[in-house]
Amino acid sequence: MQFEITANPAALDDKAREEAMANPAFGRVFTDHMVTIRWTAEKGWHDARVGARQPFQLDPAAAVLHYAQEIFEGLKAYRAGEDGITLFRPERNARRFNQSAHRMAMPEMPEELFIQACEELVKIDRKWVPGGDGSLYLRPFMFANEVFLGVKPAAEFIFCVIACPVGAYFKGGAKPVSVWVSDEYSRAGPGGTGAAKCGGNYAASLLAQAEAIEHGCDQVVFLDTKENRWVEELGGMNLFFVFDDGSMITPPLGGTILPGITRDSIIELARAQGRAVEERPYSIDDWRADAQSGRLREAFACGTAAVIVAVGEIRSTKGDFTIGGSQTGPVTAALRDELVAIQRNQQPGPAGWVH
Ligand code: PMP
Repeated sequence: MQFEITANPAALDDKAREEAMANPAFGRVFTDHMVTIRWTAEKGWHDARVGARQPFQLDPAAAVLHYAQEIFEGLKAYRAGEDGITLFRPERNARRFNQSAHRMAMPEMPEELFIQACEELVKIDRKWVPGGDGSLYLRPFMFANEVFLGVKPAAEFIFCVIACPVGAYFKGGAKPVSVWVSDEYSRAGPGGTGAAKCGGNYAASLLAQAEAIEHGCDQVVFLDTKENRWVEELGGMNLFFVFDDGSMITPPLGGTILPGITRDSIIELARAQGRAVEERPYSIDDWRADAQSGRLREAFACGTAAVIVAVGEIRSTKGDFTIGGSQTGPVTAALRDELVAIQRNQQPGPAGWVH
């Protein structure tokens, strides 16, 4: 699709941008531009633009403000060498975006258009891609802007991409995180929206996350809704468990957890290292027992924002326990180093991962 490109006349100059990019807090600093594409039932996708990042004008009856038809994605652009900039598996984000759209009765988008929109923003804001350990976090999203108070799929949507230069996600860098097991709140049940990246899932997780913080933890762990027993995922990351025989377990994709692209990449890398990786249910009781017996050597969480981070301590109403002396274990560290090197194009990975 042809994009109409209008440079932001108020774009920051080099000095102001460099100041803004020095140690940015995650999600607080934004680049100069945004991409927008409209969708209507009559015209389909049209009116693709790259322009100054600016507020939307939304009617108070815009459907998203009432019935929450909204989905999003998250992926990163990395500096690669002198002039190069790469994206990591963006076609996976495009595919997941469409799966989310389908679940939320929103229009799907050609995968090439999704990727092109990300590329257009990176191109115009390329000076905002940090070097070193940083990256440019891209946030594609879509919402219903039809002016209508009715519970039905909207007939008008806006797709948008914005971007933030980011450093490390957790304040402590790659230090192990502590997690709180929520037994009061669930994230998603069978037949629900757990596998979709829709804003509503995150709104519903915030109280549980606040409870985790009250208990001195970084993140919340959700269990399944039926038995309150099977480990699902964190509020914004998938989980892996590493055992004394080198094997690994990660909870299966059954529609209640987000199919993480980092999760998928780790399964592939770990299997290539010769590890047995099982996608199967793992209970909170086994987690505790295996940590206490020493059979469980490491646990880690993974996602685009933080990549891979060790889980050092688990707190719950049934008592607390630690894993691997609350240190980052060797398997976690090696997988993290390998994945980061591939993402940054410092080491070859499986074909097609680096775009
Ligand atoms: N689970 C949830 C709930 C998430 O929000 C995320 C972040 N997108 C993930 C897992 C990890 O997904 P990914 O590896 O694709 O970033």
